[in-house]
Amino acid sequence: MVDPTSDVGEDVSPEDAPTCATCGEQILNERTHRVITWIEDDAVQSAHFCDERCRMNWDGDS
Ligand SMILES: [Zn+2]
Repeated sequence: MVDPTSDVGEDVSPEDAPTCATCGEQILNERTHRVITWIEDDAVQSAHFCDERCRMNWDGDS
């Protein structure tokens, strides 16, 4: 039997999990996970957020 509630294929090991740029929480398979990317100094920058609220609260200072 296949368990429809399992989330096989989306596993992220703790070592590889990104952390929220606002609150610092580690993001492990969060449905609300947000990522933004931008170009800065010819390099792609990215920031991860655990949810939309943290994304909105991010002031983007760098
Ligand atoms: Zn957060």
